[in-house]
Amino acid sequence: MALPLHFDSPERVFTLADLANWPADGTWLAVLGQPIKHSISPAMHNAALAQLAKSDARFKSWRYVRFEIAPEDLPAALKQFHAKHFLGLNLTVPHKVLAYAHVRHVDPRAQPIGAVNTLRWRENGWEGFNTDGYGLAQGLRENLRAELVGADIILLGAGGAARGAAVECLQAGCASLSIGNRTAENLKTLLTTLAPLAGKARLRGFDPQDPPKDLPSGAWMINATSAGLKSAEVAPIDLERLPRPAGVYDMIYNPPLTPLLRQAQRLGLPSANGLSMLVYQGARALEIWTGASVPVSAMAAAVQARTAR
Ligand code: NDP
Repeated sequence: MALPLHFDSPERVFTLADLANWPADGTWLAVLGQPIKHSISPAMHNAALAQLAKSDARFKSWRYVRFEIAPEDLPAALKQFHAKHFLGLNLTVPHKVLAYAHVRHVDPRAQPIGAVNTLRWRENGWEGFNTDGYGLAQGLRENLRAELVGADIILLGAGGAARGAAVECLQAGCASLSIGNRTAENLKTLLTTLAPLAGKARLRGFDPQDPPKDLPSGAWMINATSAGLKSAEVAPIDLERLPRPAGVYDMIYNPPLTPLLRQAQRLGLPSANGLSMLVYQGARALEIWTGASVPVSAMAAAVQARTAR
């Protein structure tokens, strides 16, 4: 597909002003967020699309780009992307919950999460999915050989990512889910939302600064807080104050080694950062849009190249 270079640039950050003149040809996918400059999703998805195009010519005209969209502009933006026939959108911070109210059909698995990260174009409106939980489960399996079913889980955080992770753990049939969060009020709200999904799983909250002595040993710890994103931050919990976990998964992937992961390594615990989750949530989204079996290894290679820079 020959597109004006102006549009066919995965490095570019587009805005709503660009959308007004968007070319009619091609099949377009995009990630919307604010800030969005850091997003490596275009590199990851375009690598997969290039690979798919080698065996299926229809993917030659598919491109994935990124748009900086302010939260107050999101409702109007979603209408405009729909009118321009973008086939799919990804939503990142701060849009996942905001977008939920503007989706016409919500995948049943996304309903208890109340947030969507993937939209698919349908004639009468957007169809919404949440692929973060799938990405987490696959990442845990690949990096740590961890299975959620029957497992004890210690989850840190009570924001959007923690909510998706908690729903995934409970839906998968974990044995127990212990959630620690800095702000007690946010933790309480999350536990109230999750209670109807708990079934036989033991669900409880705790203060990460004062963890209870009877947390399970051999649990999988998942960090879904943003503590560690900035280099000066300390770990959201002191692993030495807990019964020894089976391993630690930190959803943060940039920086690749957070203070929590550094401590896990020092203690000789299996550990991994969130790069695999990023890849698998993206792979699932691309499957939803393409209906094809997607080249996960090409996506992983693209994000590894980006984060190694
Ligand atoms: P939110 O802003 O919704 O939630 C942030 C959470 O982090 C809250 O629980 C907050 O606690 C806690 N927190 C923030 N700063 C600190 C701190 N200094 N110490 C302790 N706790 C803190 O963010 P999201 O849930 O959307 O994202 C959380 C993290 O997960 C981010 O780092 C994000 O990059 C990552 N992520 C990774 C993905 C991947 O594919 N690998 C996918 C999605 C998210 P409080 O309630 O006290 O404010």
